[in-house]
Amino acid sequence: MAGQKMLKFTKVERDMPEKRAPNLRNQDFNEIYAEYARDKAAEQASRCSQCGVPYCQSHCPLHNNIPDWLRLTAEGRLEEAYEISQATNTFPEICGRICPQDRLCEGNCVIEQSGHGTVTIGSVEKYITDTAFEQGWVKPIRPHTERPESVGIIGAGPGGLAAADMLRREGVQVTVYDRYDRGGGLLTYGIPGFKLEKDIVMQRMAQLEDGGVEFVLNCNVGEDLSFDAIRGKHDAVLIATGVYKTRDLDAPGSDADGIVRAIDFLTASNRKSFGDVVEEFESGELNAAGKKVVVIGGGDTAMDCVRTAIRQGAESVKCLYRRDRANMPGSQREVQNAEEEGVEFVWLAAPTGFEGKSITGVKAKRMRLAAPDATGRQMPELIEGSDYIEEADLVIKALGFEPEDLPKLWGEKELEVTRWGTIKAKFTTGETSLPGVYAAGDIVRGASLVVWAIKDGRDAAEAIMGYLSQSQTVAAE
Ligand code: FAD
Ligand code: SF4
Ligand code: SF4
Repeated sequence: MAGQKMLKFTKVERDMPEKRAPNLRNQDFNEIYAEYARDKAAEQASRCSQCGVPYCQSHCPLHNNIPDWLRLTAEGRLEEAYEISQATNTFPEICGRICPQDRLCEGNCVIEQSGHGTVTIGSVEKYITDTAFEQGWVKPIRPHTERPESVGIIGAGPGGLAAADMLRREGVQVTVYDRYDRGGGLLTYGIPGFKLEKDIVMQRMAQLEDGGVEFVLNCNVGEDLSFDAIRGKHDAVLIATGVYKTRDLDAPGSDADGIVRAIDFLTASNRKSFGDVVEEFESGELNAAGKKVVVIGGGDTAMDCVRTAIRQGAESVKCLYRRDRANMPGSQREVQNAEEEGVEFVWLAAPTGFEGKSITGVKAKRMRLAAPDATGRQMPELIEGSDYIEEADLVIKALGFEPEDLPKLWGEKELEVTRWGTIKAKFTTGETSLPGVYAAGDIVRGASLVVWAIKDGRDAAEAIMGYLSQSQTVAAE
């Protein structure tokens, strides 16, 4: 009886997998949470009350069938739990690790609202698929029949890879082009290993390659190969290039040496984790060791930068953010992790300029939050006469990302974009203004989340299948 195994939230307390001690975990780039043992996963899953209307599921962008895989985990039926979990999520082990669960599934768990602490959905999801890999339940992609059509995917991030997986399972010939030397997009070169170890991403790359997805790496579309050439080669194209243009700081002195972009800093660090030789790291330019580091921004990227700098052996690490803790966009869980690891947050402070040709300090002003505006958000305003200097010899800009100008870079004026520069695409299909061209992930949404990129990639793959079938019917008539 399912009921006997479940609804234990009044007797069993919420318990996350063990977190490594701050003074140990800040010495390396390994993940900070351990794996549940089998009994613990079953026990935690059994806390779920099997809601008739599961809000966790409706707040998961993939609408994962969470109550069912929790019940199966509680009953020890892990292989079945895995089958259900992977039916809606291409990379459950990745989402289980890095989704901001507090804002999505877990943030809407009913038992949390009754004061019992949310079911640890993400950790159980991770546990199920890690176990599936260990046990060999993750099957290689072997389509029933091969189809003659081919699809070109530009961008090997989670959006492009989720689409590649779906299309390949249908027997479509898939080629993924990426300008980097490794696939994974921000999973590989943006998000640090302490949130997502790199072999977890490479394991998926290997599975896709083994399943017949062709990767053309070191290929910058628009430079090494034209967008037109890709359209000419394939029956349909998916653009999943993400957003990489760094929002800049427009303040006096912002061209000083020692002010770097978050994406460059994180990419260099991730490359080091792969054992690559990274010149800008060796020279010290993108290395925080021994430095007073100031990171500017309050989102997930800023959190990853401060925690990376700590691990590189910075003398001190401060995070400057113009709003307060309650109003920051980054996950509260990550702020807590960062504080435990020795990062100091300077809330309600904004940079106004920089000192030194080689950076020596950030000129800053204190802020206060005004009354909420029509949207309910409190705008920060400067406090006159509150100027001060934050000492720094490395400043990392983490103010967010914008899309590159793809129509211009690719010489494709007919590719319509929004006023923010993101590609104009239909909401549930990813169809763009160009026939047979689809788009998914951050390049459509603006900087977003891995789980949304996966959702978009899956939706676009389904729409592409419809388009290919329709084209075939038309050709046959
Ligand atoms: P990307 O992952 O950006 O992949 C795009 C790929 O396209 C890249 O590999 C790029 O090289 C390639 N490309 C771009 N242009 C070209 C071109 N012209 N030719 C060939 N290839 C090209 N989300 C979460 O859910 N949880 C987190 O904890 C989290 N942390 C983050 C931390 C950081 C530092 C950053 C920057 C983002 C984080 N995100 C997080 C957001 C998440 O990584 C993105 O939303 C997600 O990766 C978007 O997927 P995507 O496939 O659209 O694009
Ligand atoms: Fe929660 Fe993300 Fe998993 Fe959905 S994919 S259940 S939001 S961790
Ligand atoms: Fe279980 Fe919480 Fe989802 Fe309800 S909301 S089904 S208790 S995980």
